[in-house]
Amino acid sequence: MTDKSIKTLTVDQAAEEAADLRPQLLEWGKQYYEADAPSVEDDVYDRVYARLVALETAFPEIVTPDSPTQRVGGSSRSDLPKVTHDIPMLSLGDVFSLDELTEFDERLRGNVDTPFDYNCELKIDGLAISLRYENGKFVQGSTRGNGQIGEDITANLKTIKSIPQTLSRPLTIEVRGECYMPKAAFLALNERREAAGQAPFANPRNAAAGSLRQLDTRVTADRQLATFMYNVADYEPLTTRTQSGLLDELAELGFTTNATYRVAHDMADVAAYIETYQARRTELAYGIDGIVIKANELPLQRSLGATVKVPRWAIAYKFPPEEVQTRVLDIEWTIGRTGVVTPTAIMEPVALAGSTVARASLHNPDYLIAKDIRIGDTVLLHKAGDIIPEISQYVAAKRPAEAKAYVIPTTCPSCGAELVHLDDEVALRCINPRCPAQLAEGMNHFASRNAMNIAGLGPQIVAQLFDRNLVQDVADLYRLTTDQLLTLDKFGEKSAQNLLTAIDNSRNNSLERLLFGLGIRHVGAKAARSLAAAFGDMASLMAADSEQISAIDTVGGIIADSVVTYFANTQVHELVAKLQAVGVNMTYTSGTPATNSTSEFTGKRVVLTGKLQELTRPQATEWLEQHGATVTGSVSKKTDLLIAGEAAGSKLAKAQSLDVPVWNEAQLQAAMDETK
Ligand code: NAD
Repeated sequence: MTDKSIKTLTVDQAAEEAADLRPQLLEWGKQYYEADAPSVEDDVYDRVYARLVALETAFPEIVTPDSPTQRVGGSSRSDLPKVTHDIPMLSLGDVFSLDELTEFDERLRGNVDTPFDYNCELKIDGLAISLRYENGKFVQGSTRGNGQIGEDITANLKTIKSIPQTLSRPLTIEVRGECYMPKAAFLALNERREAAGQAPFANPRNAAAGSLRQLDTRVTADRQLATFMYNVADYEPLTTRTQSGLLDELAELGFTTNATYRVAHDMADVAAYIETYQARRTELAYGIDGIVIKANELPLQRSLGATVKVPRWAIAYKFPPEEVQTRVLDIEWTIGRTGVVTPTAIMEPVALAGSTVARASLHNPDYLIAKDIRIGDTVLLHKAGDIIPEISQYVAAKRPAEAKAYVIPTTCPSCGAELVHLDDEVALRCINPRCPAQLAEGMNHFASRNAMNIAGLGPQIVAQLFDRNLVQDVADLYRLTTDQLLTLDKFGEKSAQNLLTAIDNSRNNSLERLLFGLGIRHVGAKAARSLAAAFGDMASLMAADSEQISAIDTVGGIIADSVVTYFANTQVHELVAKLQAVGVNMTYTSGTPATNSTSEFTGKRVVLTGKLQELTRPQATEWLEQHGATVTGSVSKKTDLLIAGEAAGSKLAKAQSLDVPVWNEAQLQAAMDETK
C-alpha cells in the first residue's frame, strides 16, 4: 500500500494498486473467516481495506466483481452442510472517526425527506448467526458464510443456552444476531489449550467462530458460547416497526438481547453513547469492537435498502486501538536456554483489547533503565500490533514518592551465579552450565519439533522432571521409567507410556536433529543440517577444527568457532558419551531418501482434514504433490493416508472405520524435515 494521495493517481495507477491490494485482502480474509486464525491484526486489515475502498470510490470503473469490497466474509467450510440465505446476511460499512460518522449522517439525511432517529447498539465481537423458527419452534441455524450461502450449524446452536428452542408466540420468523464467547470463557479456554500444548485462539471472535463450526457438538457445548440477537430477515411477523422496539420484542419472544441500546436524535446523542461505551468497554463481560448506528424506523431501513455488501441504513463506528493504565507490582527475571536473563513487568491484571494482561516483557536491562520503570509505578499499557502487551511509559503524576530506581540484579535468580554481559551484548547472561533454569529451557529446546521432536514433553513436565530430580540432563530422558513418570502430576499409565514411546522413537533421529537440539550457540536447524550432512557422524564433527568446518559452503566462521568451542568442553564430551550409551543415533541418516527421485508418498492418495497449526492447507498440499502424492478431497477405500489436523471430524471417523492410516500434523512435519 502506498501513501500516495489518491487525487494524484491516474486511473491506471489506481487500478494497478487496487489489483495488488485485492489478493492480499482475500488471503487475509480466508485465514480469518475460513480458518478462524487471522494472520494479521484487524487494524492492519482495516487500513488496507480502507485504502481499497478509497481507490474504488475515486475510480468506480476499476471495481471488479471479485473485489473484497463487493463480497461478504469468506466462503463456507466444505464439510458442513450448506444453507442458502433467501434474504442475504450482510456486513456493515465502517468508519473510524466522528467526522466520518457525521459525513455518513449528512449523506443519509440528504437522501431522506423526513427527520429520523438512530438506534445505537454495541458492536459485539463475535460472528453473525441466523435462526429460523417455524410456528415458534427452532428449526435451523446457520452462519453468515459469504452472505448468500452459510453453514448449517443447527446442532451446535442447540447447545447454546441463550437460544430459545420455543418462542413465547408461535411465529414463523428468521432472527439474526451475534454469537460470541464471553471474555472469561475465552481466557479459560486458551489456558486449557496452552496447557494441552495447543495453539491459543487469537481473540474471542475467532474462538467463537472455531467453536461454532465444529462437527462434534460436544465441543461446542463445552465452550460456553452466548448470543445477542438484534435483527430479523423480515419484520412483518413482528408488531413493532422500530429497531429499538424490535430489540424489546425479541426479548419478549425469549431471545437474549443487549440491553445497552439507546435511541439517538442527533449526532451529539450518538457521540455521547460512543463516549460512554468506549470508557466502559473493558468492564463489559464480552468483547466489543465499536458501536453500530441504525436508522430506527424499520420501513425506512427497508426503503433505503443495501449495496451488494452493506445496508445503507446502518454504519459501524470502530474503536481506536486501546490503551489502559495499570500498576507494576514486581519485575521478574526469567532465564532462557542460552542463559539470557530477561526482565518482565508483573502488573495488576487488566483487561486490554480482549484479554487480561498481567505481564509485559521489558526485554533487557537497557530498555528497563531507559524507560525508568519502577515497582509501584502506574504505567500506560497497549498491545503492540494489537496483540503483544507493551508498556509505553510510566505516568509521572502517579509515581509514588517512595518508588526507587530499579536496581538491576547481579546474580542469577535460579542458581545464584554472577551475571555477565558477553561481548558487549545488551542482554545479561548467567554462564553457569549447570544452572537448573537453563537446563530446563535447554531440555524444552531439545524436545521441540525441529529438534528431537518428542511430542508430549512440554515445559510443565520438564519443570517437574527437574524439580523431582528425575533428570539432570537430556540424556537422562532416555533412562526414565514408567514408575518415575507416574509420580508426575496428572500422569496415568497411558500418558506415561505415550511419553516413553515418543522419547524412545527420538533415539533414531538423524544427526542434524540432535545437533540442533543440543543448542550450540549460532547453530540453527539449517546449519545443523549442513554440519550433519558434511561430517556424517558426531565423532568426525567433534574432531574437526574451525577451518574444516568453515570450509562447508553454508557455514561461516562464527558458527565454526562456536562449534569448536562447544566441543572443546569436557562436560559436552561427557554428555555426548552418555547420549551414545543410551542408544541415541549419532549418524546422518536423512540423506539417503532425498537422493531418490521417489518418496514414501509417490503414488499415494492422501486426504487432508481438520485445522493445521503450523502449515496452511495449500502448503501441505503443494509439498505432498511435489513428493508424488495425489491429494483428494474425500476419504474412500482407495485412500492411503489421512492427515488430520485439529478438530478433524467426519473424515477422520470414516478413515478410522475403513482402517486408513491416520497421521497428525507433527508426523507430516517430521516426514517433511526428513526429506529436506
Ligand atoms: P464487521 O465484523 O466489521 O461488521 C459486520 C458484522 O458486525 C455483522 O455481520 C455482525 O456480525 C456484526 N455485529 C455485531 N454487533 C452488531 C449489531 N449490534 N448490529 C449489527 N451487526 C452487528 O464486518 P465483517 O465483514 O464481518 O468483517 C470485517 C472485520 O473483520 C473487520 O473488522 C476486519 O478487521 C476483520 N477482518 C480481519 C482480518 C484479519 O486478517 N485480521 C481479515 C478479514 C476481516
